[in-house]
Amino acid sequence: MNYYLYDKFNRKTSKMKYVGAHVSASGGVENAPLNAHRIGAKAFALFTKNQRQWFSKPLTGENIDKFKMNCEKYGYLPAQILPHDSYLINLGHPEEEGLSKSRKAFLDEMQRCEQLGLDRLNFHPGSHLKKISEEESLLIIAESINRSLDQTKGVTAVIENTAGQGTNLGYTFEQIGFIIDHVDDKERVGVCIDTCHAFTAGYDLKSPEGYEEAFNKFDKIMGFSYLKGMHLNDSKKALATRIDRHEMIGEGFLGIDVFKRIMNDPRFDNIPIILETPDDSRWEEEIRMLYAMIK
Ligand SMILES: [Zn+2]
Ligand SMILES: [Zn+2]
Repeated sequence: MNYYLYDKFNRKTSKMKYVGAHVSASGGVENAPLNAHRIGAKAFALFTKNQRQWFSKPLTGENIDKFKMNCEKYGYLPAQILPHDSYLINLGHPEEEGLSKSRKAFLDEMQRCEQLGLDRLNFHPGSHLKKISEEESLLIIAESINRSLDQTKGVTAVIENTAGQGTNLGYTFEQIGFIIDHVDDKERVGVCIDTCHAFTAGYDLKSPEGYEEAFNKFDKIMGFSYLKGMHLNDSKKALATRIDRHEMIGEGFLGIDVFKRIMNDPRFDNIPIILETPDDSRWEEEIRMLYAMIK
């Protein structure tokens, strides 16, 4: 199957959609590109360590070499790969101990990406845990990003928008823009938009007007040059419920049309577009369906 787009002279164009899924890296990071290839993915996300543990053993030279070899073999460039950090990390933690543990673990994640030759790391900004204000926590997040960027090279910190469940921050584009404003190296900070999170946070991507309004707002507040990835998920919960429950594409409250718009919107070209839908046995079918939407 051919996923490339062609211009009117039938030449392969540089503009293309990289659609894939968050695949398993069990048995070693080198298995992720194989798992992605197996489902016809042109992009993939992975955890570079066990996401439920604070620390894992370092990557071995063999892991790194095999990962790079497999990416090359199956044609995955860094712009098609969006590693995700551990869910335990809270870069906006209000308390010293939790914060330093999170910063240490995040630096380790950034360094793993560096070792694997990857150029971006996707993470959820953080939570204030009702102990400090939203703004104080957002400033702590920016400082956490600054510290990790100071100690690494070539890896962009990619902030994911959240549904705003509990005390999670990053549920408005303004909050993410505020973090970016306080990051020193603007070249190495970016954003990943999760469609389910945006919708339940209150951005009505379902209607054509809501879609335009949300992404125009994104462009105005941050600018599309900051967009370094997308998570494509439908939602089990309704608009503005602030609950994070992913659904299969076209089977939730968002419905199929928003995904057709995204697949035909050049603002989402050339970045990893990742499915995080609940049934991994249907990812291959979802990827095929999404590519078939391109007019
Ligand atoms: Zn995420
Ligand atoms: Zn996501």
